[in-house]
Amino acid sequence: MEDNDKNVRLRALPSVEAVLQRASLGEALGRVPRSRAVAAIRLAVDTARTRLLEHGGPGFADADVHSALAHLSQPRLRPVLNATGVVLHTNLGRAPLSAHALERLQAVAGGYTNLEYDLEEGERGSRYAPVVDVLRELTGAEDAVVVNNCAGAVLLVLAALGAGREGVVSRGELIEIGGGFRIPDVMRQSGVRLVEVGTTNRTRLDDYAGALTPETALLVKVHRGNFAQVGFTSEVPVTELSRLGQERGLPVVVDLGTGALVPLRGVGLTAEPTVSDAVEAGADVVTFSGDKLLGGPQAGIIVGGARWIERVRSHPLNRALRVDKLTVAALEATLELYRDERWDDIPALRLLSQPPELLRRRAMQLASLLASRGVAASVEDVVGQVGGGAMPLAAPPSSACCVDVEDPADLLEGLRKSETPVIGRLLDGRAVFDVRCLGESQLEAVAAAICAVLGDESA
Ligand SMILES: *Cc1c(COP(=O)(O)O)cnc(C)c1O
Repeated sequence: MEDNDKNVRLRALPSVEAVLQRASLGEALGRVPRSRAVAAIRLAVDTARTRLLEHGGPGFADADVHSALAHLSQPRLRPVLNATGVVLHTNLGRAPLSAHALERLQAVAGGYTNLEYDLEEGERGSRYAPVVDVLRELTGAEDAVVVNNCAGAVLLVLAALGAGREGVVSRGELIEIGGGFRIPDVMRQSGVRLVEVGTTNRTRLDDYAGALTPETALLVKVHRGNFAQVGFTSEVPVTELSRLGQERGLPVVVDLGTGALVPLRGVGLTAEPTVSDAVEAGADVVTFSGDKLLGGPQAGIIVGGARWIERVRSHPLNRALRVDKLTVAALEATLELYRDERWDDIPALRLLSQPPELLRRRAMQLASLLASRGVAASVEDVVGQVGGGAMPLAAPPSSACCVDVEDPADLLEGLRKSETPVIGRLLDGRAVFDVRCLGESQLEAVAAAICAVLGDESA
């Protein structure tokens, strides 16, 4: 297009006021408040301007307003189809909840509950009561409390048991947990003075013992869940650390993070310490996440000896970090599945334990859905990840559909922007769709989205 022509069409873009007056848009714009109508028109005119500048046209049309209205009425938090193969993807909301947990949310969220009301006694009760007994049963700990997330749990436990005094921790365990948050910073925020012992790769019991002073309040052990050390390494197991703690009357706090309640079964998974392992080994307090390997809602679960948990429960930060009824409901329901040994009903566990043959068949199903729409895709073996800072060395085998297109990044971008976004991966210059986290009923939607984006591009 001639520059001149383009300028003419840019100048022809209508004003917001003019569009508001268009009779052809009266009905659509009349259905929303004026402020929303104006926002949609601004977006529509901007879209038309960008289109003119970047692609030379066409100019503004009513259809731009209809698309803008549809776009603005979409929720910002939406379901996406996870074709990354990462089961506990923090950016995609970590663990999907079980049907059992969803039913519980549905049952309690819309009305009143006995969240802090003791129905037996007719007086104020504890919001943790619904989960304490089942957590004790599942972990072997004496008592439990639940807060917003595991980072909050660590902050609270350290503040309650060690503020103003010293906490001893191995240099090999001063990890960054993601999103820029680092254990040493969380410790400092709690008011505990960090005393680092040992070296990056090796820490011995003597190192801890030699660092104890009258100022020491606790011994801290952080599970290196999101990275692995190999080679010339050694760490002090919880059993030994807790013996030292017991001798000196100091609590041993273990931040497990990943929070496996049962040993995980699944091809390619590595061993992960369970919460009851840590409790049995003598940890006085254990902290872990609700939405990592546990497969429940976001939460920070704190279990341990009654005297320590009582101090944690009564600390003012506990009030600041407390969970709401939605979390309590979903967590209670998730823990019931563990209690009843219904592990396959917990999506995170089920997704991790799928046999490779099943995944291969599902990938072939996706490939044939694509083929029936004229898109060629190959089925290939890929290696998945657990995600969520768990099992860094695990290499669960999975299958994926690889779509060979000229511009795979363009395809992935188009899929992100689809009505139901599909999140795939770029691998060796190809768009790759891992089927591990896709249900059979979602394959059709993934195939349709891929074809829609490729169709748009070729149009
Ligand atoms: C993931 C993790 C945390 C943080 O847990 P959130 O629930 O994300 O707050 C803390 N410590 C360890 C060891 C972790 O792996």
